[in-house]
Amino acid sequence: MPAPPSTVFALDERLEHMRQNCIECGVCVRECAFLRRYGTPWRIAGEWNSPRTERERLPFSCSLCGLCTTVCPLDLDPKALFLDMRRSAVREGLGHFPEHNRLVDYETRGTSSRYTWYGLPDGCDTVFFPGCTFPGTRPAVTRKLFTFLMSKVPNLGVVMDCCTKPSHDLGREQAFDERFSEMRDWLVKRGIRRVLVNCPNCYGVFEKNGGQIRPETVYEYLAANGVPENANLSGAVSVHDPCPLRDHPEAHKSVRTLLDRMGLEVKEMKHHGMNTVCCGEGGNVAPVDRQLATQWGNIRREESRGRTVVTYCAGCTAYLSSYVPAVHVLDLAFFPKQAAAGQAKISAAPLTYLNRLRLKAWFKRTIKAAHERVRPEKPSQS
Ligand code: SF4
Ligand code: SF4
Repeated sequence: MPAPPSTVFALDERLEHMRQNCIECGVCVRECAFLRRYGTPWRIAGEWNSPRTERERLPFSCSLCGLCTTVCPLDLDPKALFLDMRRSAVREGLGHFPEHNRLVDYETRGTSSRYTWYGLPDGCDTVFFPGCTFPGTRPAVTRKLFTFLMSKVPNLGVVMDCCTKPSHDLGREQAFDERFSEMRDWLVKRGIRRVLVNCPNCYGVFEKNGGQIRPETVYEYLAANGVPENANLSGAVSVHDPCPLRDHPEAHKSVRTLLDRMGLEVKEMKHHGMNTVCCGEGGNVAPVDRQLATQWGNIRREESRGRTVVTYCAGCTAYLSSYVPAVHVLDLAFFPKQAAAGQAKISAAPLTYLNRLRLKAWFKRTIKAAHERVRPEKPSQS
């Protein structure tokens, strides 16, 4: 399919902007193994159109974590450049790795009529959006979380669907635009203006593409509403802030408030808050270049110094678990003793898919829906 001219122009413009403005100070390079391998953003931009450049592999080896963008003293945005390079590679037919098939299938299943369900009670303007990985791995926590939210938010609805971040990050613009806008437009037409998310990736997608729908994390909501009660934990932990929320200090603060309320002391790692690092899952680099993806877990192992690492993304928890004792803050909030003892109940595939189907049935029984649907297999105009 021919590329939209505006998008082609955007990459050319970004390449030129980087060539004109990057002074090769090396601040971003010091933070990132990908840049240490391929060179400064100035060099990468300058060589993008050279026949020697691996246009297929290079942008798919960047984790899209945004740390380079955060630390750049000149406010340049290398992350956006590498995402545009992915999109350009896909348009040229270069960005289709068999190693990505698993993730693409995951999104396809997540957006299928079998796994989706939208339930909106009368007067609903807010929905809970649990995402894919969290409800699959933690159905009991998902039920407890929704039950709590439902007791506080009048006419709360639910959307079980995939935010289609995989397509977004793999540079498959057309698939992302079609799938996400179909969901957003259906919700906007029915008066939805707020989405409560537990997944940082879903937050990022709604924040940039949600239009009239404003995302809010459940962490902020729980921190403001007195959860958890009576956890009575003790000891010191570190917090891994997920990179899609690096620019959201209110989310960082809320998670620390929850931990403090549980009785846990937070010892900060060097990279935290806005300067957090990727967990290793970002950009789906691991299947293509495991060596680069592992740089991040090694940083966490070193910085956490043997402490348990609390995070607030199901993907981060799974990835970091190969390097450090990692736990999701919602496991701690709703099953404190079990989770603190390293015994949180976390399902693995293929049980995760069965869990999602069971949750779908539970939501259908729990919500008195005035509007409901499953996602149509092909985008509709309704
Ligand atoms: S991996 Fe992260 S820090 Fe490195 S270039 Fe990509 S977005 Fe920037
Ligand atoms: S930090 Fe900014 S100016 Fe320095 S090398 Fe990186 S992109 Fe260039």
